[in-house]
Amino acid sequence: MSYTHKPTVIETIAEKLHLIPDLHTAGDGPAAKKAVADGSQVNCPPPDQWDNWVEYDSKSWPERKAKEYMLIPTACFNCEAGCGLLAYVDKETMTMRKLVGNPYHPASRGRNCAKGPATLNQIEDTDRVLYPMKRSGKRGGGKWDRVSWDSVLDDIAGRMRKAIQEGRNNEISYHVGRPGHEGFMEWVLRAWNVDGHNSHTNVCSSGARFGYAIWEGLDRPSPDYTNAKFMLLVSAHLESGHYFNPHAQRIVEARTKGAKLAVLDPRLSNTASMSDYWMPSFPGSEPAILLAMAKVILDEGLYNRDYLENWVNWKEYLQQDYKGTPVTFENFIEALKKEYSAYTPEFAEKESGVKAAMIVDVARKIGEAGTQFATHVWRSASSGNLGGWAVSRTLHFLNVLTGSVGTPGGTSPSAWNKFHPDVHAKPKPQTYWNTLQLPDEYPLAHFELSFLLPHFLKEGRGKLDVYFTRVFNPVWTYPDGFSWIEALEDESKIGLHAALTPTWSETAYFADYVLPMGHSAERHDLISYETHAGKWIAFRQPVLRVAHAKMGKPVDYTWQANVGEVWEEDEFWIELTWRIDPDGSLGIKQYCMSPYRPGEKITIEEYYRYIFERVPGLPEKAAKEGLTALGYMQKYGAFEVETNVYKVNERTLSEADLQGSSVKPETGLITKNGKSIGVQVNGVNCTGFPTPSRKQELYSQTMIDWKWPEYRLPTYIKSHVHQEIMNRSKGEFALVPTFRLPVLIHSRSGNAKWLAEIAHRNPVWMNASDAKSLGFEDGDLIRVNTDIGFFINRVWVTEGIRPGVVACSHHIGRWRREQDPAANRWATNRVEIKREGGGKWKMRVAESIEPYESSDPDSSRIFWSDGGVHQNITFPVHPDPISGMHCWHQKVRIEKAHEEDSYGDVFVDTERSFQIYKEWLAMTRPAPGPDGLRRPLWLGRPFRPDEKTYYLK
Ligand code: SF4
Repeated sequence: MSYTHKPTVIETIAEKLHLIPDLHTAGDGPAAKKAVADGSQVNCPPPDQWDNWVEYDSKSWPERKAKEYMLIPTACFNCEAGCGLLAYVDKETMTMRKLVGNPYHPASRGRNCAKGPATLNQIEDTDRVLYPMKRSGKRGGGKWDRVSWDSVLDDIAGRMRKAIQEGRNNEISYHVGRPGHEGFMEWVLRAWNVDGHNSHTNVCSSGARFGYAIWEGLDRPSPDYTNAKFMLLVSAHLESGHYFNPHAQRIVEARTKGAKLAVLDPRLSNTASMSDYWMPSFPGSEPAILLAMAKVILDEGLYNRDYLENWVNWKEYLQQDYKGTPVTFENFIEALKKEYSAYTPEFAEKESGVKAAMIVDVARKIGEAGTQFATHVWRSASSGNLGGWAVSRTLHFLNVLTGSVGTPGGTSPSAWNKFHPDVHAKPKPQTYWNTLQLPDEYPLAHFELSFLLPHFLKEGRGKLDVYFTRVFNPVWTYPDGFSWIEALEDESKIGLHAALTPTWSETAYFADYVLPMGHSAERHDLISYETHAGKWIAFRQPVLRVAHAKMGKPVDYTWQANVGEVWEEDEFWIELTWRIDPDGSLGIKQYCMSPYRPGEKITIEEYYRYIFERVPGLPEKAAKEGLTALGYMQKYGAFEVETNVYKVNERTLSEADLQGSSVKPETGLITKNGKSIGVQVNGVNCTGFPTPSRKQELYSQTMIDWKWPEYRLPTYIKSHVHQEIMNRSKGEFALVPTFRLPVLIHSRSGNAKWLAEIAHRNPVWMNASDAKSLGFEDGDLIRVNTDIGFFINRVWVTEGIRPGVVACSHHIGRWRREQDPAANRWATNRVEIKREGGGKWKMRVAESIEPYESSDPDSSRIFWSDGGVHQNITFPVHPDPISGMHCWHQKVRIEKAHEEDSYGDVFVDTERSFQIYKEWLAMTRPAPGPDGLRRPLWLGRPFRPDEKTYYLK
């Protein structure tokens, strides 16, 4: 694939005047010849020239100096989308010159957001960690010594071996910010027999996930925007959010074909500003709007009878809630109308502030779009509110009503569009259940209660002997960061903390080991995400390692090609696992054996070779080019496994599947060996959905069985920041702290100079009418009081947010202390932290961002000084009692800053935060459920352990 560019008139004139090199006629050097031969100004060279691509060196201007490059594909790791990147490696210096889009990536298709190319900044960051570091002095004291990787691996492996030998497997925990791989850690942790996968998901997406899972057993949406006629987003997918670059491309495609876009968001995001309908709802009121739309669709007969009749468990609903009523579809519709009769558009307007007429208009457009109705919610409302999972549940209700589940232009479950690799050795599920991650109070929690770890440790629920944090920075990213510092500093609670990270961070400062790991172009990963109605894999590969091999100088380990001694995680885990069980007596080592060289340790290339050889269609496609499957992935970086994936629930069971099965006549449920395997619909044996009924579960017996009967149907749950608890005259607001700035991402972008240059402030958005009534002018210093403290910020007066709501982006406000190694200086303030006893913590900015001397001349050109404000650290934890999601939104009281306040000040009382944790904990309805279970067997659980562990006794 190549894109050609004809010279413009201006370019032609500029060339004739010798203002720019003559790129469009043959010149002297090889570069000019190459350029002419290939079509000049090629945006993406054709793959057959990727091993030897020549361009003029821009920095040598006006001299025409040819530069020879290798182009090597990899994948971005600056957000979860995993877009394709193409690295230009200078053959002379063997360094990366730039990273651009890889057109062979089926999701990103050659396009990236600003964060993709900025990967180069992270690789060249002069402050990055290059060697393993071990703390000396007390934890958090800021003193570090360089140590060898061998000593690190032996120390950690020895400690883990002892813990495993003593049956203390639950004292080993791996806590990850962004996984960035498919299946690798599950393989490793199961090999150790450790239930230690702790993720960030409960501060990210568990709310939305639970709302989907309770419907269809699969926990994320995958909209087919390209073919949609109407799109409803409870998110900002043109600029941010999961898979936003691949999604944004397809949303724009649909709009160019005439599709309409509606956005529910209290903030005028870039997405809302591009929409046909912006519905600035009061936070948490979204389900009221969505149910009002459902009511319009029901009342006006805009629903899809065929889909509802065949693919929804409506009979169960009638049989349970309307005993004695004939089980007919008409009676079902009448019951539903009655159920949702209170959700009038006027009621929704009262709750949300969105005009009833617009709600009706959008509902009718949804009905008209029918099966071509695409929806999405990721963080936003479902992550902000108590009961936020009801947002995705009521949003999906609209897809169910219109029959737009899994259709062209509709919304599929994510799992249909995600590839799961087949690894070479499959350890059995772990025989432990770690209650420090999934405690009994949260039997339905969709992911681990990771943000409660400091409180669990404080309560004495357990301790950790070996704690890995990997690309994970809870001190800064999570709520209640000072409680994290208290936990991390306490060696009786956390025996050893190893931070696997490419760069220093607020959390790494409180580690025992800081272990440098590669950025996206310095490591291997296999990734696959639900970006569209297809299924693909992409290969993140260490670019310089591949380049060395191409130059005939292969290396054995990735760190040998990377800068310093920067390892990649995959090789670290293999090496560590090998050393935990050196003689094989623990039964762990066997999983690290090569599938190709019996008795030898597996290499990273063998690990991926085995997987790629088993990807359907890949070996065949590779063979057509004379390549192995691994060779193909190394060359192109991506492969499309399946296209046009729709209606997977209607795929039929095979004869082999059906052998020994039986069908329940009243429900059509097909079971085998006591487990449901499918459902009969209109006489066809379909696989259905992985739910108890194998259908979409409008009516959830699970919610009843697990003590939440009031939520058996999709409903509206009033948020903890509902407007009725706000006293506006006292300056009380709902604070929306969850939105992303398009060029930043959590702590990941702090070492990317191009990104920090674009965005480095996070003022508090406030509607002009609110600012007027409180007497604030744009830029005024304000004190934002949360339930556990306050932060001092500036107000940004705007019409881009609805009255009664304020918002502040969470990406900014990075910090380091005087004693910490200088790091991320494009984005970090130097702060002073004072611990005043009784859980009281104060933080003040001592030095904001300043230019500094380094080997990068740009560091002396920093023109900005504002590093923003760290707001998350002033938030208490708010665990939703059902989904386990941290409910991010805060009820805050805003006042003018006090005389003693300075911009960026933070105050927190962690004893108060512990009390608030207890208050939210008291809302739970703990296990056991039916049969003494900790959790419903059918509901997905991350990193599922052995079934026996599901039973409390
Ligand atoms: S959307 Fe941007 S940050 Fe995310 S993977 Fe793609 S290029 Fe990277």
